[in-house]
Amino acid sequence: MQDNFSLQNRNFSYWESDVLARKRDFIIIGAGLVGLSAAISIRQKYPLSSILVLDRSSIPLGASTRNAGFACFGSISEIIDDLKHMSSSEVENLISKRYAGLEILRKRVGDENLAFHKLGGYEIFSDAQSEVYNECYDRLDEINKLVYNATGLSNCFALSSKSFGIKSYEKLVFNQYEGQLHPGQMMDQLLYISRQSNIEIKYGVEVDSYNTDENDLVVSTVNHKLSFTCSKLLITTNAFAKSLVDDVDVVPGRNQVMITKPIKNLSIKGTFHYDKGYVYFRNVGSRLLIGGGRNIALEEETTSDFGLTDSIKDYLRKLLNEIILPDTPYAEDSWWSGIIATGSSKKPIVMEYTKNVFVGIRLSGMGVALGSLIGQELADMV
Ligand SMILES: Cc1cc2nc3c(=O)[nH]c(=O)nc-3n(C[C@H](O)[C@H](O)[C@H](O)COP(=O)(O)OP(=O)(O)OC[C@H]3O[C@@H](n4cnc5c(N)ncnc54)[C@H](O)[C@@H]3O)c2cc1C
Repeated sequence: MQDNFSLQNRNFSYWESDVLARKRDFIIIGAGLVGLSAAISIRQKYPLSSILVLDRSSIPLGASTRNAGFACFGSISEIIDDLKHMSSSEVENLISKRYAGLEILRKRVGDENLAFHKLGGYEIFSDAQSEVYNECYDRLDEINKLVYNATGLSNCFALSSKSFGIKSYEKLVFNQYEGQLHPGQMMDQLLYISRQSNIEIKYGVEVDSYNTDENDLVVSTVNHKLSFTCSKLLITTNAFAKSLVDDVDVVPGRNQVMITKPIKNLSIKGTFHYDKGYVYFRNVGSRLLIGGGRNIALEEETTSDFGLTDSIKDYLRKLLNEIILPDTPYAEDSWWSGIIATGSSKKPIVMEYTKNVFVGIRLSGMGVALGSLIGQELADMV
């Protein structure tokens, strides 16, 4: 059915066209955390520039408002796993960027506005993961040194005597520096700051191509009734980037999430990791949120389509019933999905793609942490 109210589907009056067609200094495609962060950082650097952010959806539709709200820089088993695929200086660099990104976000938005709570994070282990646990135990000091080098934070990981009623194989591994936040409030505040900073944002505009016209870049929408012109273009569409920059190494990954109704006497407080970061759960007040597990159905979940599947839902339910909340009755409230961007490396792609066209994408499922720094790096590059 034709959407008659979408900005891109109508005929424009002369007055509308006159304003819409004005050339901007910067256009940013994608109004998620990275797009808005880049816009705010560009405004700080170029106070008088014109900045327009375009998004295909009436509210951002990707990951920034659909994530779990972990303010974290990697669980211990995830860091150990990363060290098997990356050099230690690359892992250190990634942790340092995640930590720096969180610091920018907290400073910019404020802990109260983010509903940021530093309750700490924990990693749990099932009986089948005894080997993973033993490796974490053996390498605790080594990983703490690596985190210290990356962030200056000492004694990050330690064994915890708390169990929260969770059936873990062994003790939980505690990270005293981890926190949780409210992604909806985070994005709402970034939107507020953007508007206060005189950043123009248009929703309901899906960009399908851009081309160079002399020195200008012309950005076209899906049916080409509407186009915008700018001097510099930034693409921050993360998992959806391939529609605009097709030769980048970006693979979409769906993540499904469930939140329970309030649970009486919920003892779980904080952010929790399981299975090298693939599964995550946390309290949201007295509710429990759980998500992830795409590694058990990798082919099915390698998609940019939103949706829910029985295989993932059943897997997360089984974890809840047998390991996380074995003795606590709960009722499901709602399910949703979001799309992350992965690839052959966990390193984000921040580069000048072609002359005056910049990309800040592939945040590998840790964009709440990385996003503000990527925005700043883009602003430094343009
Ligand atoms: C379920 C889930 C849980 C997560 N949990 C955490 C967590 O706890 N901690 C953490 O650090 N990270 C987490 N992440 C990752 C984090 O949310 C993302 O890395 C981050 O939000 C990416 O931000 P972004 O701005 O790059 O992308 P997005 O938020 O996906 O924004 C991209 C935007 O581009 C728009 N767009 C796409 N194509 C076009 C087009 N052609 N034209 C116009 N607009 C377009 C989309 O509508 C969207 O609004 C999670 C992700 C998911 C999905």
